[in-house]
Amino acid sequence: MKFGGTSMAGTERIRRVANIVRRQQAARDGKLQEVAVVVSAMAGETDRLVNFCREANALYDPAEYDVVVASGEQVTSGLLALTLQSLGCKARSWLGWQMPVRTVEAHAKARIDSIDTPAMVASMEAGEIAVVPGFQGISDNGRVTTLGRGGSDTSAVAVAAAVKADRCDIYTDVDGVYTTDPRIVAKARKLKAVTYEEMLELASVGAKVLQTRSVGLAMKEGVRVQVLSSFIDDDATPADELPGTLIVSEAEMNELVEKGEMERQLVTGIAHDKNEAKVILTRVPDKPGAVAHIFEPLAAASINVDMIIQNVGRDKGETDVTFTVPQADLARAQALLKDKRGDIGFNRIITDSRIAKISVVGVGMKSHAGVASTMFRALSDRGINIQAISTSEIKISVMIDEDETELAVRVLHTAYGLDAEDEAA
Ligand code: ASP
Ligand code: MG
Repeated sequence: MKFGGTSMAGTERIRRVANIVRRQQAARDGKLQEVAVVVSAMAGETDRLVNFCREANALYDPAEYDVVVASGEQVTSGLLALTLQSLGCKARSWLGWQMPVRTVEAHAKARIDSIDTPAMVASMEAGEIAVVPGFQGISDNGRVTTLGRGGSDTSAVAVAAAVKADRCDIYTDVDGVYTTDPRIVAKARKLKAVTYEEMLELASVGAKVLQTRSVGLAMKEGVRVQVLSSFIDDDATPADELPGTLIVSEAEMNELVEKGEMERQLVTGIAHDKNEAKVILTRVPDKPGAVAHIFEPLAAASINVDMIIQNVGRDKGETDVTFTVPQADLARAQALLKDKRGDIGFNRIITDSRIAKISVVGVGMKSHAGVASTMFRALSDRGINIQAISTSEIKISVMIDEDETELAVRVLHTAYGLDAEDEAA
């Protein structure tokens, strides 16, 4: 089980969490279930700690930064263990260095290498609930490390993989993964299940339920993940009956469809992302090496390029190249490209951050024609102009004017038959 920062914000909420954990542990067939709980720091706490580091030393040492920011999870893990004990449960915390959770690579963005679980498993077998602070680990030379922001999701999946858990339940402030943002489309539906690949695509194009890295790890390790709400009453459907959204392999998804528990859809979800910006370089020489000259400096500066289109060359042996970068990197990208103008040889650089990327995602489109044309037709019927297109095996993304984001999402949600049926009807 994993609980995020909103669920852990304050002793009252921690008591609610403790209740959910106690119910999960409750005996089945006369035997207590073995439960490990991974927790985040209280909401806002990690930001507060990061600010302290900045104030103390603008050029802070990442190793000491880790000592400071890892403390938020130490507090909540201890508090949850105490609260569980107050409810009559046996519980203890297992800090990153105690288990230990061994990590590799740099401070502040460490990756989990291995987790030693025998002691923790023995204590769980003896009926003790294991409470594990997320986000933290220990380096080869024994220093505290952290996994990068949002890393508790990854901690939870890694612990689940290490103990070969039946399931990793991620409790959060939403009750599952939806076909699209319910704030935009009132008829958005909660999905019973999505595949790892779909979740990765949805997460990387704006659906921010889980840290993307945790989904990649779950896929690699075959951990079954469920996303569900922690804001529930005592009589809520038990987690074992899968009230949330399951994230599973394609094979398990196919089984669910065969058993009639899931409907086969061409498109599973629609995501939108307003955080990209468009860059156009005009009159780039149309010859081998030209695009390499553009994208090499961006790659060297770790600027992630997403959509790319190169227009058909004009008669003078020139072409326009359009691509997108994260809005936050636009100024840097612009400066770099101007710097390399001599090597690249473009005429003008035109940028626009008032664009949005709309993506339709679904494993169902692998084996079906016509998914893209449905998208293009639906958008054009509403007069929405497509500025760029990119695709993967299970995703089609288009770039449009930012002002048309909500309209586009609604139109596509209907076009792919994703709208929930009217309850009154
Ligand atoms: N507390 C850390 C953060 O805010 C890790 C997490 O909550 O996932 O980034
Ligand atoms: Mg989170």
